[in-house]
Amino acid sequence: MKTLHRARVDLSCIDTIFISHFHADHFFGLPFLLLTFFVMKEKAPRKVRIIGPRGIQETCFSLTETAFSSVHPCVLWMTDHLQFEEISGGSRTQLAGCEAEFFGMEHFSETYGFILRKDGGVPFGYTADTLWCESLEQMLKFHPAKLLTDLNGEPADARQIHLSEHDLLERCVPLADNATEFYGTHLRTDKASTLPYLHYVRSGDIIPLF
Ligand SMILES: [Zn+2]
Repeated sequence: MKTLHRARVDLSCIDTIFISHFHADHFFGLPFLLLTFFVMKEKAPRKVRIIGPRGIQETCFSLTETAFSSVHPCVLWMTDHLQFEEISGGSRTQLAGCEAEFFGMEHFSETYGFILRKDGGVPFGYTADTLWCESLEQMLKFHPAKLLTDLNGEPADARQIHLSEHDLLERCVPLADNATEFYGTHLRTDKASTLPYLHYVRSGDIIPLF
């Protein structure tokens, strides 16, 4: 929520939320966003889509009920104003005027990345939290024009949990055929890149899809 406010995102325009996995740093802000929607969109005719892994509906309700109680008007509002969509590896749906295809990533819990297809091209992909894996290899072979990727890892980590810049250069860049610009996110510290095809992004940065 802080990031959305800092970036001055018009929250009333949000009609779809993608939850890649249920880790707290990706998911626990949702009740506050839903509470804002409840206040702003109480009479909105269109439902807000929430796309996520198996159990997305039950998990969203459980988290919001834990946050506000099961009889809070926001929880009652959720029943009629949210539309949930479960995804799995290989499933597809319409997203941002494109066809999204989802890929199961290599992380602790069930986690999904996706690519967007439009007019025969792949303008965008998102890896979510992941290590190097077969799914990431598949995504890169579609040559997304822009790939937003987890770069939280460092080569010196005692246990590798996230992709690192080293992995990106060793594994991803050779498959990209100079067709992909990489946007590194989930960073531990602010970083700057000297490579023309790698950008480090901060919370609130906007990456135009087209
Ligand atoms: Zn995670």
